[in-house]
Amino acid sequence: MSKPAYKRVLLKLSGEALMGDDPYGINRATIERMVADVAEVAKLGVELAIVIGGGNIFRGVAPGAQGMDRATADYMGMLATVMNALALADAMRHVGITARVMSAIGIEQVVEPYVRPKALQYLEEGKVVVFAAGTGNPFFTTDTAAALRGSEISAEIVLKATKVDGVYTADPKKDPNATLFNTITFDDAIAKHLQVMDATAFALCRDQKLPIKVFSITKPGALMRVIMGEDEGTLVHV
Ligand code: UDP
Repeated sequence: MSKPAYKRVLLKLSGEALMGDDPYGINRATIERMVADVAEVAKLGVELAIVIGGGNIFRGVAPGAQGMDRATADYMGMLATVMNALALADAMRHVGITARVMSAIGIEQVVEPYVRPKALQYLEEGKVVVFAAGTGNPFFTTDTAAALRGSEISAEIVLKATKVDGVYTADPKKDPNATLFNTITFDDAIAKHLQVMDATAFALCRDQKLPIKVFSITKPGALMRVIMGEDEGTLVHV
């Protein structure tokens, strides 16, 4: 069997990816399927860190949060990511993968705090690290947390798992002629006004020359194909 293309990756999972077809929350079958994909990769010896979103439980800018102080709503969003991280780590335990949740917000009775050397140690020990609570700061997103943690742990790539299978020339739901990019440079993505990640996350990856692979987490075997360096999704590079 050929070797994985990467030794250490940062996987960004949106909260929505855990919902399946449900309107909110965590769908059991969906999280189990996703964790099975993650376990397969971890068992290859690829060092895997995950940033999990919280949009399936709470989004700071959502209508439900209207009228709320933005920072307060964002802290609620970050706490939602902690719930998702706990669910993810627990589901991983069920399939024999040791995961450690590290939170950017102090919440020690529940999960350990994010300490960079400790995260690096866990990765070297072959444990999956789940980064919770985003960056720990309001007005940011978990995409930015993915870019930040990815840079901090010297990940070779940020894998942005979405519901679409990559970056298109236009919205494929609206434009039947939209085509998928195999690869695209950061500069071209900006010039063509393509939304890959939010602007802060995108700028950080670009500055750090940290490539981003956008792919569909709902497509069977896609994560493994990405890890093996096969033709899957869109690679955004310098
Ligand atoms: N959030 C935040 N700072 C961060 C990360 C997240 O304030 O560093 C809040 C923000 O309110 C956001 C919510 O947490 O709407 C959930 O995160 P995100 O929208 O990135 O989750 P996803 O869309 O990936 O599920």
